[in-house]
Amino acid sequence: MENEIVVKVKSKLVKKYKKGYPLLTAESIENDKELTVEGSVFTLVDDRNQFMARGYYGKQNKGIGWTLTHVQDELINLEFFIKKIKHALNARKHLFGSPDTTAFRVFNGEGDGIGGLTIDYFDGYYLMNWYSEGIYSFRKSIIEALTTSTAVKGLYQKKRFDSAGKYIEEDDFVTGEQATFPLLIKENGVNYAVYLNEGAMVGIFLDQREVRRRIMENYALGKTVLNTFSYTGAFSVAAAMGGATKTTSVDLANRSLEKTIEQFSVNRLDFEAHDIRVMDVFRYFKYAKKNELTFEMVILDPPSFARSKKNTFRAEKDYTNLLKETIDITAEKGIIVASTNCSKFDMKRFKQFIEVAFRESDYNYQILEEHSLPQDFKTNPAFPEGDYLKVIFIKKL
Ligand code: SAH
Repeated sequence: MENEIVVKVKSKLVKKYKKGYPLLTAESIENDKELTVEGSVFTLVDDRNQFMARGYYGKQNKGIGWTLTHVQDELINLEFFIKKIKHALNARKHLFGSPDTTAFRVFNGEGDGIGGLTIDYFDGYYLMNWYSEGIYSFRKSIIEALTTSTAVKGLYQKKRFDSAGKYIEEDDFVTGEQATFPLLIKENGVNYAVYLNEGAMVGIFLDQREVRRRIMENYALGKTVLNTFSYTGAFSVAAAMGGATKTTSVDLANRSLEKTIEQFSVNRLDFEAHDIRVMDVFRYFKYAKKNELTFEMVILDPPSFARSKKNTFRAEKDYTNLLKETIDITAEKGIIVASTNCSKFDMKRFKQFIEVAFRESDYNYQILEEHSLPQDFKTNPAFPEGDYLKVIFIKKL
């Protein structure tokens, strides 16, 4: 413990850290200059030099490290990582036992006690995301903790910590058996094609599992569905499996066309009966309006920030407008599924965007249901900004 760096919290923030706030920021401590080596362990003390927590230094876009324990004699070693990982695996037992769902999150960063690390499960294979050089420096112990706690067919990883906090392009295979891609996983009985070795995004966002299930089981039947910012078309597939009469997927990325065809095909759905467009969503809205197209369900799941040739979209500024465009092409009594993963605003503010959009469009609406992260994306109550997902099902009246 002698080589641990002691960092002192600014007195006005002592209360916050005592309550368990897990993220260390440069502004929150008196002596951030002393933290220089990624992965070094620090002790966090209050204004009277009393122990509050122990953590590690690792720069990522959000901060400069995470606290790991509030127990003074608990050390950060293999035993610590085994304890955390076993606990997390245990909490997902019901998912491991499910025949219908073979992909989910097994470790969700600070929610499971180690900020900067996530681990996902894909039908026997595991994928680790490292969000800083600091957490990556513990990889030997963390990988050992995982492989000794559960059966790992093969392990892949994403390093997401170049200077801009972006994914580092390289071979993501770590150990075990290589998977053959596409790896077919199941979610609520639906197949999805996943690639663990093709860049940061693997083909499906696991945090939307419940939303896809609701669309499939309770909303899609007999409806025409527009899926905007559709990526590989996972929402379109869920809707089609739920009996949508036709889906239209719109995404700017060229790769989205073949990826969406593949997601339809692995479920034996006829992709030619559906529309898949490589196009700017904002241009599609204009096209739809001009041609008087309307949809009985519209799914909105934009990135928090995106720049295309003609548009820059920032969720915190532009979501209201996106909704207004959507309201225009939603059929009477139609459903809008409004989703955002932007951590800059909370559910309350998201609802205000909805309120303003409908008021300015002169329509009434009714909120039918709300979703945040599913259970396997465990969050830390002391870190509300980690609960980033907000999804609202709205009926246009
Ligand atoms: N809804 C998807 C995930 C969306 S990821 C799912 O559930 O799987 C965000 C996607 O938005 C990316 O695929 C990106 O290519 C696309 N995108 C960003 N800006 C866009 C724009 N202006 N028009 C259309 N697609 C856009």
